[in-house]
Amino acid sequence: MEESIRWLQEKRIQKTLKALRGRGFRAHYFSAPTSAAQWVLEEARDATFIGVGGSVTVRELGVVEVLQEQGKTLFDHWQVEDPHEALKVRRSQLTCDLFLSGINAVTESGEIVNMDGSGNRVAAMAFGPRKVILVGGINKLVSNLDEAYRRIRRIAAPVNAHRLGLKTPCAKGGECTDCDSPQRICNVSLVLHRRPIFSDVAVVLIGRSMGY
Ligand code: SF4
Repeated sequence: MEESIRWLQEKRIQKTLKALRGRGFRAHYFSAPTSAAQWVLEEARDATFIGVGGSVTVRELGVVEVLQEQGKTLFDHWQVEDPHEALKVRRSQLTCDLFLSGINAVTESGEIVNMDGSGNRVAAMAFGPRKVILVGGINKLVSNLDEAYRRIRRIAAPVNAHRLGLKTPCAKGGECTDCDSPQRICNVSLVLHRRPIFSDVAVVLIGRSMGY
């Protein structure tokens, strides 16, 4: 049974990789996070200024600490407490050499879907950084755009809102009410239908559940 599930996952992953490549993205699959992390670090070798989007998956990979030890300049607003400084860091992410982020959902037909509260993450994914690497676990794979948005509203946003201690209905009750909360984190959505003209976007899929 376990083997059959792995077989099915493999089929979905291969279909998604092929679709992503067909849309102009570089796309890679690693069964283990450690191999994915190695690949990311290799890609980061010639980057000096590295932006880190708000992503649990990127932190789970363990690359942030390594890049810091290597002496890279990181623009990581999660490491900055002062709100004004954090805003500056978010702006710096838009012109960095390499932007690392997670994925809210990726469809089997190769579309990458993300939703933000402030929009800095999706802005950097679309234009600005010389290179963009988006990492996502197998849990981010969905059939189509409808399922992608459902996943974001039912899982990614409530879990993240709860993790951040936000005052949103989903952070309290676990369900999306399409709220008008000042702390709403579903304000800006981006679908990368194909590789943006001036961007080098690589997608790294990992064969286990990561992030939300
Ligand atoms: S719209 Fe509001 S309630 Fe719905 S998931 Fe987003 S933050 Fe939560």
